[in-house]
Amino acid sequence: MQEENCIFCQIASGAMEADIVFKDDLVCVFRDINPVAPSHLLIIPNAHIESNNDLGPDQAAFAARMLTVVPELAEKEGIRESGYRIIMNTGSDGRQEVKHIHLHLIGGKRMQHPMG
Ligand code: AMP
Repeated sequence: MQEENCIFCQIASGAMEADIVFKDDLVCVFRDINPVAPSHLLIIPNAHIESNNDLGPDQAAFAARMLTVVPELAEKEGIRESGYRIIMNTGSDGRQEVKHIHLHLIGGKRMQHPMG
């Protein structure tokens, strides 16, 4: 299911342009428009789910795919061995700006981060 005014739904459906690096029937992966490191990808489900708070058993397939796609993405980005962070911001205190669940895959150099 898609939401009309959701930019990530529009990217997943092809209605909005993005630098897409991977897509299958469950997830879409594209480069963050405002990268914080040399490699900064966003992994989203094609279906609209607002946040981690909306996950349940019906979302198990794409939630798993969001994680299991990471090693092959990391390999292609050349950061599999050097390391990376996967971050999911949730809600306003969690600094989630786009209300379509997504994982940030960030790597390519050692980063400054509030969690150290
Ligand atoms: P978050 O704060 O976790 O919701 O992160 C949303 C991320 O989406 C930010 O890092 C933005 O730079 C990124 N973003 C917003 N719009 C676009 C877009 N059209 N294409 C690619 N990345 C985007």
